[in-house]
Amino acid sequence: MKNNSNINNLVRANIKALKAYSSARDEFKGTADVFLDANENPFGDLNRYPDPQQREIKEKLSAIKKVETNQIFVGNGSDEVIDLAFRIFCEPGKDKVLTFSPTYGMYDVSANINNIEVIEQPLINDFQISLNQLQPYLDFEELKIIFICSPNNPTGNSINPEDIEYILENFNGIVIVDEAYIDFSSQASFIKKIDKYNNLIISQTFSKAWGLAGVRVGVAYANEAIIKLYNRVKPPYNVSTLNQEAVLKSINNVEEVTQNIDTILLERTKLKDALSTLSIVKKVYPTDANFLLVEVDDANKTYQYLIEKKVIIRNRNTQVKNCIRITVGTKEENEKLISALKNIN
Ligand code: PMP
Repeated sequence: MKNNSNINNLVRANIKALKAYSSARDEFKGTADVFLDANENPFGDLNRYPDPQQREIKEKLSAIKKVETNQIFVGNGSDEVIDLAFRIFCEPGKDKVLTFSPTYGMYDVSANINNIEVIEQPLINDFQISLNQLQPYLDFEELKIIFICSPNNPTGNSINPEDIEYILENFNGIVIVDEAYIDFSSQASFIKKIDKYNNLIISQTFSKAWGLAGVRVGVAYANEAIIKLYNRVKPPYNVSTLNQEAVLKSINNVEEVTQNIDTILLERTKLKDALSTLSIVKKVYPTDANFLLVEVDDANKTYQYLIEKKVIIRNRNTQVKNCIRITVGTKEENEKLISALKNIN
């Protein structure tokens, strides 16, 4: 959908009419000596509410990602980015979303929580989108959101950029491109397209490449109109002071983050090579993420065996027959996994 169409036509009626909560910190933005406006306790270190708009983080991200601060939403993990999209755009019991399976399980769970039907399209030929199969749905009025996970979890591959672009051009609903793993990928982010397509939401996270899964901070990048909707629907103080501080610390130490990504990519190649030599391994799928989808003789057996060896991987047998998903760990962790797998028989 090109930038001249009105995103408001996609918004739920009750959200359009919503009068957002205005917090004490929303109403006063300047500096002052005495704050008696938010019923806070005057004692302690963390006694004040956090910045509800996370301005410092947005300013840093704006410089790094080359987008405007009003094109950024900071959420409590990208799971909040996903859930709020349902609550903004999808009328419960009426609207639908579309996912390409196998993919990240939270789209489905979030849909179920919000009583939204999911149309599941299987990925084909090395886990790519079939535009032919998708075509009839693009004009479906009740279809509000298409989720594209790229690089995709659990398959690891990126989705063809031309296919993503085709969907953006031809679908009049919201397209969420989940780029949780983008910093491990050889493909470019779609973030540069948010000025061109006003129905595009890019979801990224501090949980993976930034190494802050414990912190719970996810980010949505989109046209200003969508970000305004997110800000109206989110809980006022959705990202705590501690979480904001942890993110800022990491952003200010970006060299270490880059170094860790390089190490993970190096280890990913070594792990892929080592796995490929094992007799139980049938196929190691190509990956653009920090994990590998691996087809083995018997996924259930391999999974159980590794648990006994105190190594936990993800059994994806129900999603992709006899496949396991292995996260790239440290050199020592990967070696421990490989040596356990060598002794499986
Ligand atoms: N998207 C994808 C594709 C994921 O795999 C995950 C986590 N496994 C998430 C989003 C959730 O990220 P967050 O920790 O930011 O909620």
